[in-house]
Amino acid sequence: MQDDSGQRGGMSDTGLTALKDQLAREITGEVLFDTYSRGRYATDASFYQIMPAGVVVPRSIDEALRAMAICRDAGRSVTPRGGGTSQCGQTVNDGIVIDFSKHLNRIVSLDVAGRACMVEPGIVLDDLNRQLKPHGLWFPVDVSTASRATIGGMAGNNSCGGRSLRYGTMRDNTLSMDAALADGTMLHFGEVPRNLAGVNSSDGGLALFRDMLDLGAREAAEISERFPKVQRRVGGYNLDALVPRNAANNMAHLLVGSEGTLAFTTKVELKLWPLIRNKVLGVCHFGSFYEAMDAAQHLVKLRPIAVELVDRTMLTLGREIAMFRSIIGTAVRGDPDAVLIVEFAEQDQAENIRRLKQLSELMADLGFGWDRPQRKWGGVVEITEPGLQTAIAEFRAAGLNVMMSMKQEGKPVSFVEDCAVPLPHLADYTERLNRIFARHGTSGTMYAHASEGCLHVRPVLNLKLEKDVKAMRAIAEETFAMVREYKGSHSGEHGDGIVRSEFHQTMFGPRITADFREVKHRFDPDAVLNPGKIVDPPRMDDRALFRYPPEYRVPALKTALDWSAYPGAGGGFQGAVEMCNNNGACRKLEGGVMCPSYRATRDEKDVTRGRANTLRLAISGQLGADALASDEMADTMKLCVSCKACRHECPTGVDMARMKIEVLAARAARHGLSLRDRLVGYLPHYAGLASRLAPLANWRNHSPWLRRLLEKAAGISAKRTLPAWRRDVFQSGFDATGPADGREVVLFADTFNRAFERENLDAALRVLVEGGYRVHLPKPADRGRPLCCGRTFLSAGLVDKARLELDRLVATYAPFALRGVPIIGLEPSCLLTLRDELLSLRSDQLAKSVSAHAQLLEEFLVAEAAAGRLKLPLGPVAAKALVHGHCHQKSFGAFKPVEQVLRLVPELEVETIETSCCGMAGAFGYGAETFEVSMAMAELSLLPSIRRDGSALVVADGTSCRHQIKDGAGRGALHVARVLVMSLDSTPASPYCSPNAKEPSHG
Ligand SMILES: Cc1cc2nc3c(=O)[nH]c(=O)nc-3n(C[C@H](O)[C@H](O)[C@H](O)COP(=O)(O)OP(=O)(O)OC[C@H]3O[C@@H](n4cnc5c(N)ncnc54)[C@H](O)[C@@H]3O)c2cc1C
Ligand code: SF4
Ligand code: SF4
Repeated sequence: MQDDSGQRGGMSDTGLTALKDQLAREITGEVLFDTYSRGRYATDASFYQIMPAGVVVPRSIDEALRAMAICRDAGRSVTPRGGGTSQCGQTVNDGIVIDFSKHLNRIVSLDVAGRACMVEPGIVLDDLNRQLKPHGLWFPVDVSTASRATIGGMAGNNSCGGRSLRYGTMRDNTLSMDAALADGTMLHFGEVPRNLAGVNSSDGGLALFRDMLDLGAREAAEISERFPKVQRRVGGYNLDALVPRNAANNMAHLLVGSEGTLAFTTKVELKLWPLIRNKVLGVCHFGSFYEAMDAAQHLVKLRPIAVELVDRTMLTLGREIAMFRSIIGTAVRGDPDAVLIVEFAEQDQAENIRRLKQLSELMADLGFGWDRPQRKWGGVVEITEPGLQTAIAEFRAAGLNVMMSMKQEGKPVSFVEDCAVPLPHLADYTERLNRIFARHGTSGTMYAHASEGCLHVRPVLNLKLEKDVKAMRAIAEETFAMVREYKGSHSGEHGDGIVRSEFHQTMFGPRITADFREVKHRFDPDAVLNPGKIVDPPRMDDRALFRYPPEYRVPALKTALDWSAYPGAGGGFQGAVEMCNNNGACRKLEGGVMCPSYRATRDEKDVTRGRANTLRLAISGQLGADALASDEMADTMKLCVSCKACRHECPTGVDMARMKIEVLAARAARHGLSLRDRLVGYLPHYAGLASRLAPLANWRNHSPWLRRLLEKAAGISAKRTLPAWRRDVFQSGFDATGPADGREVVLFADTFNRAFERENLDAALRVLVEGGYRVHLPKPADRGRPLCCGRTFLSAGLVDKARLELDRLVATYAPFALRGVPIIGLEPSCLLTLRDELLSLRSDQLAKSVSAHAQLLEEFLVAEAAAGRLKLPLGPVAAKALVHGHCHQKSFGAFKPVEQVLRLVPELEVETIETSCCGMAGAFGYGAETFEVSMAMAELSLLPSIRRDGSALVVADGTSCRHQIKDGAGRGALHVARVLVMSLDSTPASPYCSPNAKEPSHG
């Protein structure tokens, strides 16, 4: 679809405007034609980028179909899209993208007895399985992207899970599909007899089926000759589903794997399986990688559910990560070159154990033993404990993530990533593949679904360089030729898209390729549906289609923070932004924290990926001049609550909270500050005065009129009560308290606890003193107003002001830190600023020392308890505590100590609420325009969990979290320090148990 002017899509601006207007009139869902939105849909997890003409997010299937009809009539192509996690460029195109994932995600019907369900195409696999679990069922095509891959997209790509040896691919588990052809004809695609007798379809539908079955009969011999006989073949159209093999053919299987090029799926009927209840793992050790690959063909004879490879590089990476060291230590013996993790999962655990024993015997028969030298060194470590099995699975996933998080310009690139060869050739194939990589000056870490002969490998290349693009093409050609030689499949898991489609001719031959074209033409004669995929593709190395085309440049830009860990412009900011490879992990809907704004809105704009893509387009000039400081960019960042979850949970470590500071700084520099930014940012400056004038300062909370006024003037929601100022703020009239010979600590009295909730500081002080510590509360080195971490300034983009605050803090605390004295804080976002942003602003020894000694109270207490130094006389306080972790605690791995400390309290059952961000996030929840989203975030899990359990203590360390809980559930939440004081009070031995007990002498 290219017009005379060379404009892809063949439509003038006026035509596009008319199209947009018509869509907007007739569709109630989002119609997005602005450059920023289109840019967010221009990429998937491949290395391509094609700007779509527009995006539609329909609210119903009818709207999706109407949108397709409008676009078709306007001469535009349409590309259906689910999670957009395709690795081969399936979802990028220049027409209109229709996003099924936001609204079209229901289970339409469930037949538990018949083990089948009908779903809308936008439902995410994990979400489906969550809903199936109570029925003892699951959908077992367990792709690694299960947290965001949609069933429509999985069907589109004929996806395969790690356990496909047992369960097959998407095709094997699709019973039927309802789908619309490009001309709007709705058809049911299911099992049909070859003579089509009794098939309930329109004349057009029957004619289509007849033509397809005839094609299958006509081409049966060629299909048999040219289609690879491996399970992992997802390339091209499934013509083999049409050949006269049985009495019936399933027409849906032709649609599976068709990548949105044949029809618009509106419903998918899936085959369900009983949940796996029991399993065991055997970790088979090999002295050489070759032996491991060679052994796979023998191990599968024991009918395991999966055989997964972990190579030496992954093991080495894993050992470098503290949390995986002990897992590897338990599961891996000695120093193998590779291990194969063999999984048995029969319903009967005795049978699993029996097979595990057979596995050891088989390994011995193959000549492997712990006493053998070199290549034949090895044996089986048996893993029957479920906790360890889960830990091993997590290690595998994380090992891959570490590999993906390389900060250099060259990145692991996916293009020969999932070729599959018959198992007897796997060892030779991998050995030769390594030689191909070496010849082209690169290498790649391998991980494999060894049971299916499907090898995942991404050679490291820098696709900004012509020479590496050439190397990519050469590697692709040589690898596919080798795969063909082994009668393997060049497309074994991730589909064709742009990367693979041009190689169909080589792999399947001209006749089958012509058949593919015939199928496409019969379904979609005007090439309306996702053109250029599977048939008539562009060249895979057409750099004009790359995310980094030859003209891609990021001009010099001034940044506020230190990005020197990354390459590129802006002192490395470019490299940090480009870390996002669009894998979509930030679109997960449950588990962990990332990304709370997406969970609330389900908009691509509000997910980490959408923000990173917008930033990349902005800094490279693709969104016009000054895009970093634009209103659209501000809007893109608006719902980012700076929870820092992405920093921790994104596989490549995209740190959007930090990037948001750059955007805020650019905006503040360009447009100045709003009144709200001023009120928030400068809070540490006026806190003293406001406290003295507390009744006046709190007046706004009691006056509806003032609430409305402040909402109008400063955008602070009238629906929110602001934290109440008080006159009795925390002040220490002393520099140190506690036993003179006690271990020294510094207590950091942050602005929020000092001004609004001094009880927490009082409590922490008492816990520390009673624990026998000498607590320092040093006066600011400059003798000025109390110290602050600068967080409020950072949230307003006032980076220089934040730096000044941190300079004061470092000057005061460095003398202690240099002596090894821990600096203890209570408010996670404040204390953890010292561990995080401080080092982006200062890299000197003093700052590093303060940063290294900054600890949350719980971290300190847990370490002290572990060292046998903590002796607190704690008594029972309640039966149960419901604990909500602050996002920053989770991001910095500082939440576990909260649970551990609470477990020191006798008889207290500690239950952590599975939450993402509370939604308050500093000033976010106070914004008039963000109030609703803030509450929506809290309602996802936090508030309902608290409401469900009216009697438990509610514990939350974050000031904002406590505020949100109070506003949303009407319950007071406590900082851990206060729970500990309650616990001290309830001990008869405590000198503080009487209300008349004297306060500790301060100093
Ligand atoms: C890190 C990583 C790991 C991966 N691991 C696996 C893995 O283990 N196994 C595996 O098979 N794949 C894997 N993939 C590839 C990808 O995640 C899967 O193919 C996934 O199933 C795609 O789902 P999606 O919702 O993102 O689909 P999308 O990428 O959005 O779309 C996929 C295709 O389906 C089409 N489509 C979407 N909706 C419809 C519809 N309603 N009607 C018609 N066509 C439609 C699209 O046009 C496109 O061609 C991985 C990808 C990444 C980035
Ligand atoms: S932000 Fe991270 S998790 Fe999200 S798509 Fe990018 S790389 Fe993946
Ligand atoms: S900081 Fe939090 S809200 Fe912002 S992008 Fe990252 S995960 Fe999402």
